[in-house]
Amino acid sequence: MDISITEDEVNVVNVLNNEPMLCKVPFNQILVTPNADVYLCCGSHIINMPPSAGNLLRKSGREIWNNEIYKKFRMSFADGSFRYCNTKTCSAAAKRHDPSSRFMIHTVSEIENDETLRDSNFQDYIDAPESFDGSLRGMPTRLYLGMDNSCNLKCPSCREKLIIEDHRNGRLDKLYENLRSITKAVEYLEIDGAGDVFASSWYQRFLKNFPTEDFPNLKEIGFRSNGLLWTKKNWYRIHPYFRSKMINALISVDATTEETYKKVRGGCFHSLMENLDFIHYLLKNKEINCINLIMVYRKSNYKEIPQFIELGKRLSASYIVINPLQAWEESAYVINGQYDDEAIHLPTHPEHDAFKDCLNTHGVKNGKDGEMYVDFSW
Ligand code: SF4
Repeated sequence: MDISITEDEVNVVNVLNNEPMLCKVPFNQILVTPNADVYLCCGSHIINMPPSAGNLLRKSGREIWNNEIYKKFRMSFADGSFRYCNTKTCSAAAKRHDPSSRFMIHTVSEIENDETLRDSNFQDYIDAPESFDGSLRGMPTRLYLGMDNSCNLKCPSCREKLIIEDHRNGRLDKLYENLRSITKAVEYLEIDGAGDVFASSWYQRFLKNFPTEDFPNLKEIGFRSNGLLWTKKNWYRIHPYFRSKMINALISVDATTEETYKKVRGGCFHSLMENLDFIHYLLKNKEINCINLIMVYRKSNYKEIPQFIELGKRLSASYIVINPLQAWEESAYVINGQYDDEAIHLPTHPEHDAFKDCLNTHGVKNGKDGEMYVDFSW
């Protein structure tokens, strides 16, 4: 006798057992990838359905935001099943019954009792849960653009060769034209998670002539860069409206010595240090809101983790991220078969004990260090 049950049957059980809980991600934000896909959440966080809700080269953002894929995804929060969220990679979904571990996810009563939560896209569900079909009247308030791979570096942790997109092909113009239909409500904008905005001729034009009319509600910006081209000249070329917002500098550094920087990033270390001093000056002068530094550690640079923390303090960083090397399939380490040799965080790595000794000797751990937060993970 065949006793197998379908995924939908399993989910019927989940629906009956679970209360509705709404995640801010599908209700309030969108994420655009270099292929122009609009992702429902980080790709690795989605299971049982493809992570892309649509493509901005074919449809407008407005059409995608309320299409059948988005509606189906949102309904998995309304019915409490979370059937498309990967609890192995999303700790918020895994710990959703623990209020201290799920700041993205809220119960109905939490939303009803919090003015800010109530006054958001959650309202469409809260006002009429019975007739809610997953569509929203409001547009996203958080926009994460990772749409241009162009970068002045070819870090082996990210790619094998230099990528500079030829913007004369009009691809990003078309993508942006389709995106414009949903930018008016955006309060938080993050650019560009895929490359470096200063290395992209499209972004240089976009930032210089920033379309203020497309972003009337913009308040805060996550500005990602490797810092090498963040010079005074390039910074003040950016439209004053953009620079007047709350700017959070998110800078990937990866090394604290010239020798290691050459190995893991390949750019001019002295220019980087000079530019970091300039960015620090912007912070002191209140022209930017905060500095966050990022380091991807591996065999080639782990010994510099303690100095990296010191660098963060010298630059008055608010937050530093120290994450292990990921096995991205586009990275040179993976392509050239060097990933296992660099992945020092793996207990099977021959130098793993030496790595742990280094952390213990210098007291490296996750948590507050003075005014700065160290986000360290294995
Ligand atoms: S619960 Fe986690 S995986 Fe699901 S949408 Fe929210 S952040 Fe993404």
